[in-house]
Amino acid sequence: MKKDKLKARNDREKNTFYAMMSIYCSSHHGRGKGLCSECKSLLSYIYIKIDLCVFKNKKPKCIKCALNCFNREMRSKMEEVIKFSQYRLIFKHPLLAASYFLEIAMQPVRKINF
Ligand SMILES: [Zn+2]
Repeated sequence: MKKDKLKARNDREKNTFYAMMSIYCSSHHGRGKGLCSECKSLLSYIYIKIDLCVFKNKKPKCIKCALNCFNREMRSKMEEVIKFSQYRLIFKHPLLAASYFLEIAMQPVRKINF
């Protein structure tokens, strides 16, 4: 995969997470605009993990990854956000949701295999 293609894919994954966090934060933390500080720090943690992923251009979606580089607390928070937001994403951001569900459906769960 070319570098800019990789960047585009990672950016799309980041945008998806951002959209999900916004949906989650506005209904759980009562923010009209922007994320609260807790959600902001979770999101920047996720961005760093995406950028530093050891699988590089073979990177699976974080939620499909067998390596689980997220620490347990961040992982369970993220799972909560995804559980709450992924279907709401369809109504708020249909295009983002379409590529999200398509990519997840097409990706096998990655086995750890260096
Ligand atoms: Zn929040």
